[in-house]
Amino acid sequence: MNLTNKKYNTATVIAGYLIDGSGSDTKKNICIKIDNGKFSKIRNIKNSDYKNQNLIDLTDYTILPALIDSHVHLFMSGTCNQEIRKKQLTAEFSHIKNIIKQHIKQHMQCGVIAIRDGGDRLGHALLYKQTVAHNIKLNVSGCGLHKKGRYGQLIGISLSKKESLEHAIERKLPSGIDQIKIVNSGLNSLVTFGKETPYQFDAAEMKKAVIAAKSKNYPVMVHVNGKEPVRISIESGIDSIEHGFFMGKDNLQKMAEKRVTWVPTIYTMKAISQYFLESSTESETARKNLDHQIEQLAFARDAGVRVAVGTDAGSIGVHHGSSIVEELKLFKSAGYKIEEIIKCVTYNGAKLLRLDDKGLIKKDFTASFIAVKGNICLLPESMKDAMVFHNDHFLCKTDTAS
Ligand SMILES: [Zn+2]
Repeated sequence: MNLTNKKYNTATVIAGYLIDGSGSDTKKNICIKIDNGKFSKIRNIKNSDYKNQNLIDLTDYTILPALIDSHVHLFMSGTCNQEIRKKQLTAEFSHIKNIIKQHIKQHMQCGVIAIRDGGDRLGHALLYKQTVAHNIKLNVSGCGLHKKGRYGQLIGISLSKKESLEHAIERKLPSGIDQIKIVNSGLNSLVTFGKETPYQFDAAEMKKAVIAAKSKNYPVMVHVNGKEPVRISIESGIDSIEHGFFMGKDNLQKMAEKRVTWVPTIYTMKAISQYFLESSTESETARKNLDHQIEQLAFARDAGVRVAVGTDAGSIGVHHGSSIVEELKLFKSAGYKIEEIIKCVTYNGAKLLRLDDKGLIKKDFTASFIAVKGNICLLPESMKDAMVFHNDHFLCKTDTAS
C-alpha cells in the first residue's frame, strides 16, 4: 500500500484498533473521518465506509495520536562522540541550525509532532523557532536559569549572587519563549548511588520566581533531583518536575494532590549505563538509578501522578526521535498498561505544552496520528516502524519534514 504521495484534506480512515490517547480501553474496527485537517467523526465501521473515495485502509493496524516529547535539547545530538559534543556546545547558530533541522526531521519520522525544548546556553532553539520555517510544534525555554557556580551552564545562563531569580524572570527573558526553565539541583551522581545535591534556589526565591512567571502566564519547568530540592520546587507552585530522581514517595504524593506533572526522563540512565564500560562504577550506578526511577514511576502510577514522556534527547546516547520508544518500553516495565503509556506520551504531553487541539483522536482535534502494524500486544516496540500522518499526508522516511 503506497499512501505517501497523496494529500488527504478529507479522508475516511479504517482502523483495526484505536488507542485514542485518553487512557480508555482500545477499540476495535473503528472508522475515523477527517475533514479539513481535523478529526470529524469517530465511530464503528459500516460496510459503506469501504466505498469512500479517500479511503485509508488500516485494517491491519493500530492507530494512535501523534506523539509529544516533553523534554529535549535540540541543539545537541545524542552522539557519544565527545569531540562532536564539545563542538555542538559552543557552535554558532549557522552551524547548529542544520543540526536542529536534522533532529526535528528525526522526531517527525518517529511520529513526534510536538516537542518541548529544555534550553541551551546560547538560546539556539529559540532563534530557530523564530527564524526557520518548521512543521513541528516547538515549545522552547530559551536559556535555562541556574545559580552561578552550580550545574546548568550547558543549558542556560547563570545568575550572580546579587541577582534574584524573580528579577531575571521579570526583566531578562527574551520574547518568544513558551515556558521558563529553572535548574534547582545538580545531576545524579554516577559514583555514589542516590547522593542528593543541595537546592540552588530556596523556598522564598522559588515562590517569588513562580509568582513572577505566572504574572506573565509562563509555565515553569524545573530540572530537579532529590527530596529537599524537589519538595521546595513543588511547594513553590511550579508546573512540572523534570527528572525527579530520588524525590521519594512523599513528593510524588504531593504532586498527585497539586496536579504537578512529572517528566521522569528514565532512558537517560539506561543510555549512560551503556556508554560506560560494563561493570564500571559509573555503569553500575547508572543502572541502579534506572531501577530506582522505574520503582518511583510504578509508585507514581498508583498514586495518580500526571506523568508526561520526555526523553532528554541530546543527552549521551539519547538520540532525537528514536529514543521515545526506548522511554516507553521503560514505562511498560514500570507496570503501565499500553493505553496509559500512550496517554502519557500524547494527552498528558499536550496538557503540559498547552496544546488544546492535540494529543487525542477525538472530534475537532488536529488530524495527526501514527499507524502501527498489528495489534496492541506488539506495542510499544512496534512503534519503531510507525507510519506517520501529519498535516494531511503520510510522511515518507526520506521526507525533509522540517
Ligand atoms: Zn534536559
